[in-house]
Amino acid sequence: MTFERRSFLKLLGAGAGVATAGLAGCATQAASIAAGKRKVVVIGGGYGGTIAAKYIRMMDSSIEVTLIERNDHFVSCPFSNLYLGGILPDLSPLTIKYDKLAANHGIKVVQADVTGIDAAARTVSTSKGVFHYERLVLSPGIDFRTNEIEGYNDKTAEMMPHSWKAGPQTVLLRKQLEAMKPGGTVVLSVPLGPFRCPPGPYERTSMIAMYLKQHKPGSKIVVLDANPNIVSKGPLFKAAWDKHYQGIIDYRPAKKVTAVDNARMEVLVEGIEAVHGDVINLIPPQKAAHIAHVAGVVGEDKKWCPVNQQTFESTVHKGIHVIGDASIAGAMPKSGYSANSEAKICAANVVAMMNGRDLAEISGINTCYSYVTADEAISVAAVYTLAEGKIVGVKGAGGVSPKDFSMAKTEAIYAHSWLKNILTEMST
Ligand SMILES: Cc1cc2nc3c(=O)[nH]c(=O)nc-3n(C[C@H](O)[C@H](O)[C@H](O)COP(=O)(O)OP(=O)(O)OC[C@H]3O[C@@H](n4cnc5c(N)ncnc54)[C@H](O)[C@@H]3O)c2cc1C
Repeated sequence: MTFERRSFLKLLGAGAGVATAGLAGCATQAASIAAGKRKVVVIGGGYGGTIAAKYIRMMDSSIEVTLIERNDHFVSCPFSNLYLGGILPDLSPLTIKYDKLAANHGIKVVQADVTGIDAAARTVSTSKGVFHYERLVLSPGIDFRTNEIEGYNDKTAEMMPHSWKAGPQTVLLRKQLEAMKPGGTVVLSVPLGPFRCPPGPYERTSMIAMYLKQHKPGSKIVVLDANPNIVSKGPLFKAAWDKHYQGIIDYRPAKKVTAVDNARMEVLVEGIEAVHGDVINLIPPQKAAHIAHVAGVVGEDKKWCPVNQQTFESTVHKGIHVIGDASIAGAMPKSGYSANSEAKICAANVVAMMNGRDLAEISGINTCYSYVTADEAISVAAVYTLAEGKIVGVKGAGGVSPKDFSMAKTEAIYAHSWLKNILTEMST
């Protein structure tokens, strides 16, 4: 049995245990129902929120679940780099709707912007009214620490798109690449970690380099990485770049962009070294999405949300659980697959807590595939467990792709399958 299957079965076992446990929690449940309190609100219909909402309903259908999301659809960041590389013609294969999820599981989906959270009153204020909850699950993703980049203003993201939330920003960057003259320079800036999707900037570098090689002769991409080296799968990316994109990728480590000049189309490294780009993909440093700050669940670093790493309940405010990119989930990276694992264990424990039952422990999985050419991908995989209250990697489980790229074409097929499976799980 593979590690993925073993871990998945363990997780299902934990969930099933919660759903079928004995009568211990009945008194708590009856009291909650009598008080009209058996309500969970989930904020964010992305990788974490859809799964948390669905699994809570699957584990205990007596709990009313309301999923609040500002958009009527969700566009996946995973595979959005392939659109930038010209492999996908549009974003439709990456877009999901919520109608089947709602109908199949009895989830109340509300399209609204959440504007406030009152942890003491256990209410959520939105553009469509106020919702009460017994427990709240937050999976709102990320926002940007643009205040750390001098000169960054309302116009910057239109001129130098981040494209780190898939949708209009991704389309904008592709249009800019298409409009660039041959012989031009693309600048891609990588912020200091932790950020959403550690291998993401390097997959994007590969995809843009591939596009330039095919469509814009004489062009290059300059990568200004604030980190001392490639954050994930470094040797594999470097080998792929040497093999396929020599003279096209100019990778510069330890180059932190601290300022921008919109008018000159320049970014400034450490405020002094100006780098001009015909197209600039400026990915700013990140933090938990704005609503997590409004809820007051971010930690002292003012960036991410500390949680009990077993239940994902905020260590700042009881009754609020934070999953996905916004949370500090021990060794788990900020990825869609992590958010999916976290959502399942969080759902199991929300149900357990609402029924006065024993808590489950995470058996988490993460695999991140990255395309390096149109039909070759590399991956990193890991399994996670709980040790002394912290999520840690399981030694010996997982690993990275073979160095000789012997599996790269097969892994590209696995990657497609991964995307199809996970988006189907989120939307049905
Ligand atoms: C280019 C790129 C490539 C990536 N590739 C991979 C990959 O191959 N594999 C992988 O596992 N991960 C990948 N990721 C990472 C993955 O996209 C994220 O880790 C994942 O989306 C996190 O899930 P989440 O639920 O925390 O946030 P999201 O999926 O971003 O969901 C958050 C949702 O909350 C909503 N929301 C936020 N605030 C509010 C509010 N106030 N009111 C209402 N709604 C709100 C948003 O509209 C959004 O729909 C990639 C990321 C990028 C940028």
